[in-house]
This record gives sequence, structure tokens and C-alpha cells, in this order.
Amino acid sequence: MDQLHLLWEYQKADVEVDKLEAAIKRSPVRQKLVKYRDYYAEQQNTMKRIESEVSAMQDRLEALKDAIKMTDEQLHNLHAKLESDPPKSSEEVQQFMNDAKRFQNNLTAYEQEIKRIRKDAGDRERLQHDVRVRAAKAKSEFDKLKLSYDDEKKEKDQELEALKAAAAEKAKPIEPSFMERYRDIKKHSVPPLAALYGDQCGGCNMSLPSSVSRKVKAGELVECETCGRLLIIV
Ligand SMILES: [Zn+2]
Repeated sequence: MDQLHLLWEYQKADVEVDKLEAAIKRSPVRQKLVKYRDYYAEQQNTMKRIESEVSAMQDRLEALKDAIKMTDEQLHNLHAKLESDPPKSSEEVQQFMNDAKRFQNNLTAYEQEIKRIRKDAGDRERLQHDVRVRAAKAKSEFDKLKLSYDDEKKEKDQELEALKAAAAEKAKPIEPSFMERYRDIKKHSVPPLAALYGDQCGGCNMSLPSSVSRKVKAGELVECETCGRLLIIV
């Protein structure tokens, strides 16, 4: 058998390897696993986001408590001043009233913001709980499925190893330059070898000049001018 026909035999085994590898990737169980894994990761990201939001809220609450304390002091000082040094004119009374009102308004705004943050924090806690439950559920589904997938995978891996061994056996008598050419063509056209039927390429079905089949018959290495596959007469 010449190198080209040995390569043709190798290709048959190589196609089987590729087919099984693709089937393993397409396995519905595997795809479900990937879905659970992605979903779990998504829940964990949500959890992290919520945690950082809650921590920002806690920082803001601390800042608001400080602001309230400061405003309380300002109000207290204002009252102390009112007693020790009562306003002497209507302008001073007005000034006092304005300051008191401003401080009071600030206090009200701070308290409202605290209330709002506490409510938001409560919402987030509930959300966090839901996310945690969803994540745990996805994880447990994943673990369960993983067990049966591992069995399936072990079986398929053994099958794949056998096919690879068969392909390796067929690759043995093939010269490295032929194998290299095969791999190069495989990067753009799979499978890399195509049978010539009359003047037609069996890979892409294009009609080729009759000179092509003459050259192939004469033992020349010819690639299809359309798909780039190495042509063979079988
Ligand atoms: Zn072609």
C-alpha cells in the first residue's frame, strides 16, 4: 500500500476518534453539568455583589450615625447659647430659628436615609437567602449528576483510548512528511483526504479539470483547488 492509501486508512480511524470526542462534548449530561456549573457561578457572583453592597450600606450607616451625633451637638450648643446669650434683635432671633430649622432638617434627612438603608438591607438579606438556596440547589444537582457523568465518562474515555490506539497503530507506517501534510490540511478541511470520483472532489463536490485525475492516477500529490483536500483514488 502506498503512503497515500495508508493515510486514507489512517483517516478512517482518525475520523472515528474525532466523532467520539465530539459526542463526548455534546453529551446531554455534560451539557447539563456545564449549565449547573455556570448557574452556580452566577449565583456566587450575585452573592458577592450583594455582600459588597451590604458592606457599603454599613459604612454609610456608620457615617450617618456620626452625622446625627454631630447635628445633635450643634442643636444642643444652639440651645445652650440661647440660654446663656439670648438674641437681642429680631434678626438674631431669625438667625437662631434658621439655624435650628436647618439642623432639624438635616436630622430628619439623615433619619430618613437610615430608614431607607435598613429597608434596602432587609431586601438584600432576603435576596441573599434566595440566592444561597438557589446556589445550594444547583450545587447538589451538579454533584448528583456528576456521579452518573463520571461513570459515563469513564466508559467513553476507555472507548476513546481504544480508538486512539487503533489510529496510532495505523499511523505507524506513515512517513512524517505525509502526516504533517495531513495535519496541516486538517486545520482548514476535515477530513483532510478526499476521494476523487471521476473528475469530482468527494470532499467539496466540485468538478475538477480532467488533468487532475490524470496526475492523481500517476501518483502525484494533488490538492483540490477548491477545498484544499489531498485527493486520492480509492
Ligand atoms: Zn474539494
